[in-house]
Amino acid sequence: MSLLVKNATLDGQRTRLRVEDGKIAKLGPRIRTREGEEVIDAQGMAIIPGLVNGHTHAAMTLFRGHGDDLSLMRWLQEVIWPVEARLDDEDVYWGTRLACVEMIRTGTVRFWDMYWHAAATARAVEDAGIRATISAPLFDMGDAAGGDGVPEMANRSLEEIGEPRDLVRPALGPHAIYTVSEGALRWIAEASAERDLALNIHLSETEDEVVKCVQDHGVRPAEYLDRLGALGPRTVLAHGVWLDESELALIAERGATVVTNPVANLKLAVGRVFPYRAARRHGIPVGLGTDGAGSNNSLDLLQDLKVLALLQKHEARDPSVLPAEEALRMATGRLAPVLGGSGLIAEGEPADFLLVRTDTPELGVGALAGGLVYAASGSIVDTTVVNGRVLMRGGTVDGADEVVAKVRERCVRLGLTG
Ligand SMILES: [Zn+2]
Repeated sequence: MSLLVKNATLDGQRTRLRVEDGKIAKLGPRIRTREGEEVIDAQGMAIIPGLVNGHTHAAMTLFRGHGDDLSLMRWLQEVIWPVEARLDDEDVYWGTRLACVEMIRTGTVRFWDMYWHAAATARAVEDAGIRATISAPLFDMGDAAGGDGVPEMANRSLEEIGEPRDLVRPALGPHAIYTVSEGALRWIAEASAERDLALNIHLSETEDEVVKCVQDHGVRPAEYLDRLGALGPRTVLAHGVWLDESELALIAERGATVVTNPVANLKLAVGRVFPYRAARRHGIPVGLGTDGAGSNNSLDLLQDLKVLALLQKHEARDPSVLPAEEALRMATGRLAPVLGGSGLIAEGEPADFLLVRTDTPELGVGALAGGLVYAASGSIVDTTVVNGRVLMRGGTVDGADEVVAKVRERCVRLGLTG
């Protein structure tokens, strides 16, 4: 069955849009309504591409509001790791469903995930109807003798996530250079190239990580990854806060992508700002992520987009850095093709789009891009369509109440109440 959107505004012009087989089949003011097709009247709304959250740990919605205001290591050791040891498939399933509800409500159509029980994540993603690239966290705590464990973990997780399909893509997720041994990282790099899988890793989040890498390996984190063959066009580096000029040049040369997570970086006080302007000067593809709800704590990408833009301007002492249109392109995945969001509203493109309310105080006057980046939050999204399916209409996601209730039950089970 097809879907017709009428009375919508696209780039300031009134238009109609027909969706068939998960794609934008036709675009233009004179498309006729077909009998029996689903129609959305988008009067007072603009069509924009859906947002891409380039880095998160979706099921960590379970831990939202637990261990806030602690240092990263205390938060992990005292709050997160003890509970993660008790997680089961259903906890991860419902935690991910909650993340999906929040992302759908705030306009995210695709996200990059790294978390335990990846099969449960994949099931939740498909049930929610959103798109995700999913990886299980791989690590052996840097123990070279444990190197055999990582290939086993990786193969098992890939089997559980399954083959690439409409909504789900599998990836390899070595946690970080300080939690995965050299041998295991080499194996992951080879597997990524051989099987054409993305390699999703945290890199250069804190200064300690850089200092330790130089101490242990004699080179900085990006150079170390490159030495292991793990820096290439399929590599997605989360954070990259402490990258220096020579690392940026190397990352650009290898065609790897960096996803910045400004809110999580600020909340955990990592002490530096991702060098966005330098990264772009080198031509590095960049994306935006929230990181997990345990350390952000929101998954509303438009809020983070404002923080990103303001932070970069402030850091550069130059308000012309990261203008609104560019920020919006970044949030829709257009500055980083590997993330998989087309960021375009055009015939033949995947039907992953949003209808945003332009008759609101936030978007009622002024340029749309500036309104979205500086004035609005995710609450401005009225309708979210992914792969041609309407996941939210009129600001309501079906089944959201049940998801919240289920997550509360899971939190009680995990002893995470109060
Ligand atoms: Zn992360």
